[in-house]
Amino acid sequence: MDRFAGWGGIATRSDFAGRDDLWEYCLSLQRLFAAEASQLTVAFDEEVYPIGDVELVYIANASVNALAGAWDGRECIAMFTGTAIRLMEVAHAHFPPAYANALTVIAVHYVFAHELAHLAMGHVAYLVKDQALLEYGDSAAHKRDPRARLRRFLEFEADTGAVTLSLPFVLDVVREASINPFSDRTASDADLMTLWAIAVGLVYTAMHQANPGGHSHPPPIPRYYNAMMLGAAVAARRDRDDDYLDALGVAHEQLQRMWAANGMRPRRRLSWSSIMKMDDDIPEAQQREWLELARARAARLR
Ligand SMILES: [Zn+2]
Repeated sequence: MDRFAGWGGIATRSDFAGRDDLWEYCLSLQRLFAAEASQLTVAFDEEVYPIGDVELVYIANASVNALAGAWDGRECIAMFTGTAIRLMEVAHAHFPPAYANALTVIAVHYVFAHELAHLAMGHVAYLVKDQALLEYGDSAAHKRDPRARLRRFLEFEADTGAVTLSLPFVLDVVREASINPFSDRTASDADLMTLWAIAVGLVYTAMHQANPGGHSHPPPIPRYYNAMMLGAAVAARRDRDDDYLDALGVAHEQLQRMWAANGMRPRRRLSWSSIMKMDDDIPEAQQREWLELARARAARLR
C-alpha cells in the first residue's frame, strides 16, 4: 500500500511530463540525500541538529507543495512533482538553459532542506499533537491567533535551517558537479553565491505565484530577504562576507527583473520589520518546548 496514495502516490518518470532531465535531477538529489542525510546537520543559534536517516520521496501531484512527517514510524520528506516542475519552468523562463538547470537543482534541494529542518528542529514532533504534517505550501492565513503565529514562526525557523544546508551544498557540492553552469569550473565563490541567492529567490517566487493575491503568511518575498540575511552568517564562517554582499547585489538585480516581468511588487512594509515582529510573537518558554523535542531526537540519533 502506497502511503502517499491519498496525495497521488509515489511519482515515476511519467509524472514529470516529458521533463526527463528534471526526473534525473530529482533522482540524483534523492540518491545524494540517501547517501549523506545521516551525516548532515542543521546548525542554528549554537545548536546542532542532526538530520538522521530521513527518507525522501516524490509524490505525483501537480500542487506546489512538500511535506514533512513520519509514516509507519519512519521520518520522511515528500515533494510534490508540481513543485519541481514549477521551479524548473520559472528558472527556464528567465535564465539560459545551463544556468536554469543549476537553479532548478538548487531550488529543489532548498525545499528539501527546509522540510528536513522542520524534522531536525523538532517542529514536526511538536505539531504532531494536533497535526502530523508540516506542509511547505501551507499558508497560515493572515491572522493574529496564536496558532497562525506559531506556524509563521516555524516557517522562518525552518528557512534558517535550510540555509545552513543549502549554501554549503552550492559552494561544496554543486561546484564539483556536472550541473555547475560555469563550465570551465572556474566559478568564483561570488558567482556560486549569486547562483544560490537567485535559486532561493526562485523558490519564494514560485510560492508567491502559487498563491496569487493570497494573504499567505509568512509572505514569500520577506522569507527570501530573511534567507539572504541568514546566508550572511554562513558566508562569514567561511570568511566570504565581502563576496557574499557582492553576490547578493547581483542576484537581487536579476530577481527584481524577474519580479517586474511577473508583475510582482514585493510590498516593502511586509519585509523587514514585520519579520522581526513575527519572531517576537512566540514566547521563549514555548520555543524551548520544540527545542527539547529536537534535542531528544538528536540524542536518539547519536
Ligand atoms: Zn515549512
